[in-house]
Amino acid sequence: MNKCYRGRFAPSPTGPLHFGSLVAAVGSYLDARAHAGEWLVRMEDIDTPRNVPGAAEGILATLEAYGFEWDGPVLWQSQRLAAYAEALARLQVAGLAYGCACSRKEIADSTTRPAIDGGLAYPGTCRSGLPAGRQARAWRLRVGNEELAFEDRLQGRVAQHLEQDVGDFVLCRADGLFAYQLVAAVDDHFLGISDIVRGADLLASTPRQIWLQRCLGFAEPRYAHLPVASNAAGEKLSKQTLAPPLAVESAAAELVRALQFLGQAAPDELRRAPVAEVWAWARERWRFAAIPRVTSVVLTTSG
Ligand code: GLU
Repeated sequence: MNKCYRGRFAPSPTGPLHFGSLVAAVGSYLDARAHAGEWLVRMEDIDTPRNVPGAAEGILATLEAYGFEWDGPVLWQSQRLAAYAEALARLQVAGLAYGCACSRKEIADSTTRPAIDGGLAYPGTCRSGLPAGRQARAWRLRVGNEELAFEDRLQGRVAQHLEQDVGDFVLCRADGLFAYQLVAAVDDHFLGISDIVRGADLLASTPRQIWLQRCLGFAEPRYAHLPVASNAAGEKLSKQTLAPPLAVESAAAELVRALQFLGQAAPDELRRAPVAEVWAWARERWRFAAIPRVTSVVLTTSG
């Protein structure tokens, strides 16, 4: 067995745990256990304006009620600001990060090139210095324009040209908050994560995180991007699409539903079994190879 496997689940406390995030938790947990590896929980409470009071505690309580067992203490990103500042400073000193004065409107006025995951690809306006009389609002990372590719364990080869597909991206926002891409790369390295198993809604972010790992001299983990649950309209199940919170009473049923969503042949009778029995079944019968190799699966029932 692989002693060096370390995985993680990294929820954002922007609302209660719902079925979409449960799928990521179950997939990352069982992959870690199948490798006799460790599994950590990291609370991504860095985007303070989006944090919902009590959501982090609620997520941890739900994970516990659902029978997840994490190794070691939860890492709270709100406690890690000094580490993010240090990583940003390293990138600044290396000339890889630069100050950017552009407002959203100025970017919209200067380009029509869409970014791969929404918004606009940054056209590089401040790349060679701030325009006269302007001050840096945000910090961006200079990207390369060669193809950046990785082999996803589920989705196969994924490639981007960061300059065309994203542009130099934000590390520290105009409101002073560190961006998800930076904090994820810094903490995956800090925690010694070998394997990232998460929803395919983050697939387009991965090349940016790999680019950051290269700029900071970090090792590149393996990736597996699970299909995400979507509704009949094709929207990802999320707090924004009002996915219902997971009820503690229906732990076994929801876990079985998550297992079935991930292609596992969990029998329906298990829905009424004690949670420990569901986990015993899952740990014995988990087959990574059975996970659908697609980015999204429409949920046909809600219960
Ligand atoms: N916090 C992110 C989310 O809830 C996940 C980050 C990650 O797994 O890298 O979507």
